[in-house]
Amino acid sequence: MELMWRSSHVSGGNAHYVEALYEQYLVDPNEVPDEWRNYFDQLPRPEGSPSYDTPLSPIRDQFYQLARNRRTAQGTAAVDSGENKKQVKVLQLINAYRFRGHQKADIDPLDLRKPVPVPDLDLSFHQLSKADMDSEFQTGSFFLGKDKAPLKEIVEALEQTYCRSIGCEFMHIVDTEEKRWLQQRFESVRSKPKYGNEVRKHVLERLTAAEGLESYLASKYPGTKRFGLEGGESFIPMMDEVIQRAGGYGTKEVVIGMAHRGRLNLLVNILGKSPSELIDEFDGKKVITKGSGDVKYHQGFSSNVMTPGGEVHLALAFNPSHLEIVAPVVEGSVRARQDRRDDTDGDKVLPINVHGDAAFAGQGVVMETFQMSQTRAYKTGGTLHVVINNQVGFTTSHPQDTRSTEYCTDIAKMVQAPIFHVNGDDPDAVLHAAQVAIDYRQQFHKDVVIDLVCYRRRGHNEADEPSGTQPMMYQKIKSHKSSRELYAARLVEEGVLSEDDAKALVEQYREDLLAGNHVANALVKQPNTELFVDWNPYLGHEWSGDFDTSFDMKRMQQLATRMCEIPDGVQVQRQVAKIYEDRRKMQAGGMALNWGFAETLAYATLLDEGHPIRITGQDSGRGTFSHRHAVVHNQKDGTTYVPLEHIREGQPRFTIRDSYLSEEAVLAFEYGYATTMPNALIVWEAQFGDFFNGAQVVVDQFISSGESKWGRLCGLTMLLPHGYEGQGPEHSSARLERFLQLCAEHNMQVCVPTTPAQIFHLLRRQVIRPLRKPLVIMSPKSLLRHKEATSTLEELANGRFQMVLEDQGKLDASKVKRVVLCAGKVYYDLAAYRAENEREDTAVLRVEQLYPFPKDELFEAIKDYTNLEQVVWCQEEPLNQGAWYQSQHHMRVVADMFKEGLGRELKFAGRPASAAPAAGYMSVHVEQQRQLVEDAFNA
Ligand code: AMP
Repeated sequence: MELMWRSSHVSGGNAHYVEALYEQYLVDPNEVPDEWRNYFDQLPRPEGSPSYDTPLSPIRDQFYQLARNRRTAQGTAAVDSGENKKQVKVLQLINAYRFRGHQKADIDPLDLRKPVPVPDLDLSFHQLSKADMDSEFQTGSFFLGKDKAPLKEIVEALEQTYCRSIGCEFMHIVDTEEKRWLQQRFESVRSKPKYGNEVRKHVLERLTAAEGLESYLASKYPGTKRFGLEGGESFIPMMDEVIQRAGGYGTKEVVIGMAHRGRLNLLVNILGKSPSELIDEFDGKKVITKGSGDVKYHQGFSSNVMTPGGEVHLALAFNPSHLEIVAPVVEGSVRARQDRRDDTDGDKVLPINVHGDAAFAGQGVVMETFQMSQTRAYKTGGTLHVVINNQVGFTTSHPQDTRSTEYCTDIAKMVQAPIFHVNGDDPDAVLHAAQVAIDYRQQFHKDVVIDLVCYRRRGHNEADEPSGTQPMMYQKIKSHKSSRELYAARLVEEGVLSEDDAKALVEQYREDLLAGNHVANALVKQPNTELFVDWNPYLGHEWSGDFDTSFDMKRMQQLATRMCEIPDGVQVQRQVAKIYEDRRKMQAGGMALNWGFAETLAYATLLDEGHPIRITGQDSGRGTFSHRHAVVHNQKDGTTYVPLEHIREGQPRFTIRDSYLSEEAVLAFEYGYATTMPNALIVWEAQFGDFFNGAQVVVDQFISSGESKWGRLCGLTMLLPHGYEGQGPEHSSARLERFLQLCAEHNMQVCVPTTPAQIFHLLRRQVIRPLRKPLVIMSPKSLLRHKEATSTLEELANGRFQMVLEDQGKLDASKVKRVVLCAGKVYYDLAAYRAENEREDTAVLRVEQLYPFPKDELFEAIKDYTNLEQVVWCQEEPLNQGAWYQSQHHMRVVADMFKEGLGRELKFAGRPASAAPAAGYMSVHVEQQRQLVEDAFNA
């Protein structure tokens, strides 16, 4: 037994090996060596029939204990001798190859990978020797096609399977069925299926296309940035196979995210973008009619291709230069498509994320994206990840500088994704890896990774000279034949085609390119438009903030009743019961409406009108401040009941989910979802507003600029709790100023609603108005329960969202000398001050929408104050934050509209400039708040 624990993969904490043996033993005790059988016989049996599916956790625990403490293991089993001992060693050797064969595999086309010593793969490590090579041993679970074989044959098969062009990593997977499945797929064909001549000719044709495009662009536009694929051409036949195979499974849509390298090649050779269109872009002929546009290697594209299973819609996501951030956007877009199709397993829509090696290892959002892959709110039935691994970091850096892990793909192990490292110069192996990956995804609905190990024939881009920083690598690359040349030579040698045939492929591609023909051979010229959403109803609308959002009162009351109903079997917790009791009173007219009621009713009315709703965020079910309780937890059994899922028969989907603790990936996901599902209300809610700063890249690169760069509309709503209530620097401000600074060209809406009726109409406006613009809401905290912040059912049924709320006091307009403008909860402090101090000379107006700034509406609100002398902007935020610097020019314009020169006199009342958003001490907060309110009236 001592020896059993000596081999590194067993004693190194790897209990999986023992586990596999144990499972084998459960199926047939005679299949495992005596030594192990004796040991397993001593273990407690799992309950029920000991079979393949038997839950193993108690036993597993034992193995982990054993693996951790070798001493304990010594002597627990009888020590066997002779042949049986060797048999055990052979089985250990087989598993050693499964665990570590990849470290010896020939996966680097440049042969620069420094071999690491892998003692486990030496016969001597297992006390075997050349003298045993002719002895026959049982093959155990090794898929050799026979139960017994000479050691020589076993070792040869192991070498072929695990140490040629594919390095497989899957032994980190705990699930035995998955492991067996993968072992079978690789071992049964020695990781190299025999492909027919037609298949291989097709692969060569696609490789030729990949190379042909790059060489054409290189000769026509030398030195122009295009992030060419040269060195990684196998990517194209691989993607072709992935899409065709997925189509064969009945997949209807494939959404792809990728960074720069190889993007133009994918666009032309797989998605079927017209080469002449691309060439026009290179020639600078493309004219932008609207927005800023974007560089060609950020562009997305859509098309349909034909596959064995019918037409498949392809969508390449637009993406910014921030590598990897597009990954969760793709997931969101895929989930929206799956939800639209009621495809709960993810069989109909496939996400593919293509990564660079350095970014995959370096960017945190990769981990966040893996983390979402099996959660209820974000799962998409498994993503195919492809790493185009150039073996050089972003521009010049060495792998030693770009990561601490052995492979750039190690992060994928956290979700137990299988990883296939494959040599890009062996297109047959690449094809096999692609097929296994898609089959695995369809079978297990989990993520899977293909690490396409290749190189970069040129520098980071075509203007770079790479040998300055990578001399040794580029000496090698200079004399290294291309993947196409190598493959063509191999096929010629094997008699698959003649040299002339191979040349003809090159010429044919060049001719097609010059003639401007489409070169993606499966492209459907008349695409079936039913495969994707029709965005026409949402296109071409100019900005307008005024929209009728009223709702039939009778129906609203019915809905209100419905959403307060909780079935008898659900035992509601005391405080939650009180909230529902109050809502019933509000519905019956016995109590003023609060925020939670109005917000919930907005959702109910939208659902009733046929709009799906999706709300996610860290505490969305309950609401960070417990105002929502859209999900009721049964105190008896922990089950949940969601009243909004029971509005009416055949209602649209209502999804409300607490997110995992991410902002970046989660917000990007919702952006992807919202840009794919135009008829729905999509809400992301921050736990506290300032947490969005963890997702700043999503706000900058997508939400605020996506329409301008790519013409992609997005109706995403962000709820960001904001307000100065003495909670300190972290949870007071949602950094309003950051959003306002990004506002231009009517790109998004920034609103600060202060009454239940306002949130009701604002949420409704966002969906029923056909315009699709991101909506940023500074949502309240204390206002959720403020006794003045209430509305009536009539205000909900009849009103609309008011961008400016006029003064609510009964003022004599002619007596008003000062107008205080404000946004958000400070209004209630100002109103209280005015009432207390009987300041009839001052009107307090709320600007409920800060962008697009409602100039006309504000002018309407002040124009009757004929004796107005002064306008003050009051905010809770410090001088350098909030709306002051970003919005004062709009206020000055309106003041000047009223009286020339009044704008120049616009005054500020707020906290002094501050590095942090708010004071950490309650006493300071209170004093500042008192002062700024007083300043508004007296400055
Ligand atoms: P997709 O399924 O993403 O390929 O989209 C199909 C088509 O719908 C695209 O070619 C666009 O014309 C249109 N489309 C998709 N998403 C948007 C969007 N967010 N805004 C405007 N049009 C879109």
